[in-house]
Amino acid sequence: MKTVKAPIGVEGPGFFATSFDEVIGIARANSLWPLPFATSCCGIEFMATMGSHYDFGRFGAERLSFSPRQADVLMVMGTIAKKMAPVVRQVYEQMAEPRWVMAVGACASSGGIFDTYSVLQGIDEIVPVDIYVPGCPPRPEQIIDGFMQIQEMAKNESLRRRETEEYKKLLAKYEIV
Ligand code: SF4
Repeated sequence: MKTVKAPIGVEGPGFFATSFDEVIGIARANSLWPLPFATSCCGIEFMATMGSHYDFGRFGAERLSFSPRQADVLMVMGTIAKKMAPVVRQVYEQMAEPRWVMAVGACASSGGIFDTYSVLQGIDEIVPVDIYVPGCPPRPEQIIDGFMQIQEMAKNESLRRRETEEYKKLLAKYEIV
């Protein structure tokens, strides 16, 4: 069985010392609670991802959160109509830091085949996106791969992500305070 690797630290008989950043990173990465914002077919692939065959629970992510305040990863799956855009944005704004966003599938990433007046041409028009998962629809393996990349980010990001200049600039670009 694969277990989570110990962080870099100093070891001796009866003790192990590491930095707070490392411990929090491991804890966060292995207990990310997703908020599935599924509007169409890609959501069905996510249901398969949650099933026993793919077992999303292996990543500590089996607890889906439909409450933004108790969620870490916003997973947008499906076509987002322009009318729905303010709702996605509000959900994102209600999430507490640290938060991450996955655009799952072509529609969430770029509008997909729906290059029309009524469809948002990618959720990055309204919220910052961390990971894009390609495909129409993506297979569960791809969704898992995208999620594992979010885990890597969570593990390696500083505790103070929200206080970095780069992150502040990114949010300012979206006029998110
Ligand atoms: S990317 Fe394809 S499968 Fe996913 S919601 Fe859009 S049309 Fe459906």
